[in-house]
Amino acid sequence: MSEILSVRDLVKRYDDGFEALKGVTLSIVQGEILALLGPNGAGKTTLISTICGITEGTSGTVTVGGHDIVKGYREARRMIGLVPQEINLEPFERVINTVRFSRGLFGKPKDDAYLEKILRQLSLWDKKDNRIMELSGGMKRRVLIAKALSHEPEVLFLDEPTAGVDVELRKDMWEIVAGLKASGTTIILTTHYIEEAEAIADRIGVIAKGELLLVEEKQALMTRMGQKQLQIDLS
Ligand code: ATP
Repeated sequence: MSEILSVRDLVKRYDDGFEALKGVTLSIVQGEILALLGPNGAGKTTLISTICGITEGTSGTVTVGGHDIVKGYREARRMIGLVPQEINLEPFERVINTVRFSRGLFGKPKDDAYLEKILRQLSLWDKKDNRIMELSGGMKRRVLIAKALSHEPEVLFLDEPTAGVDVELRKDMWEIVAGLKASGTTIILTTHYIEEAEAIADRIGVIAKGELLLVEEKQALMTRMGQKQLQIDLS
């Protein structure tokens, strides 16, 4: 399996001097699902934003598909699909146009067959002509994913896709992720919930106070937790 994302010694110090990332190193291979687990303020969103080039890192490197996120931003960014925590969709826009427009922003050629494929995969095809404001919260989250996949990225980032949603919607999201994995999508997602990481990820990384404390195969981590040997201060 080839490495699609490489993060080395990534540090992010905000303008007020706060160090939100203290030298994070990780890598992910094609087709893998990595869950980054951590409490409020651990640095999950900062890590995703810095990897995706939205926030500028203070030091360290990030390469996506071999492209440096700073020096090769355009190339690296094309390989990234990002689903932010907030639902930032145009309420009056129709579903299909939202996704089509997003694809166009990345300079991808018109390809309605591909758009149909992802809308069907996300069970949105029968809603394609609906306006965003007519959709439920769960459907809006699906549109965000379709939008993020519109330009055929190599790796998909989901920043706390189940924050503030009820149990049903969380399970719905787990099914979506499982479906995307089955189609070979590489995914990094952040979450507060260990059971969520356990349900959907191949590997789990624990992030606390700006440090990635461990990244392990799910089974190894669960075994350690079962043995109560996992002594990590997540407070
Ligand atoms: P949550 O689960 O609540 O979304 P998180 O793990 O995503 O939290 P971040 O949003 O990355 O955490 O924040 C990490 C730390 O960096 C927090 O202490 C936060 O207050 C701080 N932080 C975030 N943005 C800024 C900023 N622009 N300036 C200064 N500090 C910031």
